[in-house]
Amino acid sequence: MDIKTIRYRLRNDFQLAIITLLGLIALLGITPFALLRGINGQWLSFAVDATIETGILGAVLYAWRTGDTYHPSTFLAYFIGVMSVVAVHILGIPGAYWMYPALIGNFFLTDRRNALAIALLALAGLILSDSLFRSPAEAASYSVTLVVSALLAYVFAYRSSMQRQQLEALALKDALTGACNRRALIGELERTKKTFERGRTTFGLLVLDIDHFKKVNDRHGHIAGDKVLMRLAGLLEQSVRAADRVFRYGGEEFVIIATPTSRDSLAAMAENLRGAAERTLEVDGTRLTVSIGGALLRPGESMEAWFSRADTALYSAKDAGRNRAVVGPDE
Ligand code: GH3
Ligand code: MG
Ligand code: MG
Repeated sequence: MDIKTIRYRLRNDFQLAIITLLGLIALLGITPFALLRGINGQWLSFAVDATIETGILGAVLYAWRTGDTYHPSTFLAYFIGVMSVVAVHILGIPGAYWMYPALIGNFFLTDRRNALAIALLALAGLILSDSLFRSPAEAASYSVTLVVSALLAYVFAYRSSMQRQQLEALALKDALTGACNRRALIGELERTKKTFERGRTTFGLLVLDIDHFKKVNDRHGHIAGDKVLMRLAGLLEQSVRAADRVFRYGGEEFVIIATPTSRDSLAAMAENLRGAAERTLEVDGTRLTVSIGGALLRPGESMEAWFSRADTALYSAKDAGRNRAVVGPDE
């Protein structure tokens, strides 16, 4: 593996980078102590250090080899939890200082609940060993500081996971209408393909385009046009069933992925939407209409071919005079 690949993988795989960082810390932070203990003939301490290093480096190698970071991360979180208790028992107070980075580091390796549980169990393991602390007061302040550190790490992990979820949700929404955007559509088409291949669901695609929308902008201004788009998005979300998904595909084009039972039910749905738009959409008293093209997904058909058939149906609707819903043949 050349240096470019290594840099690429470290940049693009956060979990791999964290595991690698742990490996480096183990190598640089533990090796000198291990060597010192070996030279001084403290074989038990040497064995503990060597075990920790072997476990961590083994997990690092496994992650680099296989590309699987989930299992090595989870293994490391538990391994570090257990080994830190063992280390403190054998090394005494010098080992206890390592508990802080080790148990906080676990929040990068595993789910925050696991990491908190490991920290509390490790602490319990320490407290139960009688000889470590010089007084109950020392044991108490050690416990409190360790629990506070773990709780702060928990809160931090919770906040970053919430923010990630919010960002992911935002990245899939269209800013103007709040409908799902084109990126979300690509993901949904992939899921649709997989579900369809399992063979129990019929899928229908509707492509909907506002008629003469350019004129709305020209005559009433862009802001009035934007309001129509928001109104239409709301209308579509209201009109489709809970399992159906609405996407803003382009400027004034929307796409709906639905699960009709047949071509006729898809055609009925398209016709309902067309009628609802005709009754609802208007700018300064001028009524607006939409044209809709639809297609039922055929066995073995690619998502592109399906989309293109719905688009062709939309063009037929436009050609036939607009304010129409056309659903292509199912065979
Ligand atoms: P047709 O009936 O053939 O669909 O005619 P059209 O005028 O609707 O079609 P065309 O594709 O030529 O025009 C689409 C217009 O949509 C062009 C652009 O000004 C407008 N548009 C695209 N995105 C937005 C947007 O976000 N806001 C507003 N206000 N207008 C938009
Ligand atoms: Mg258009
Ligand atoms: Mg249009």
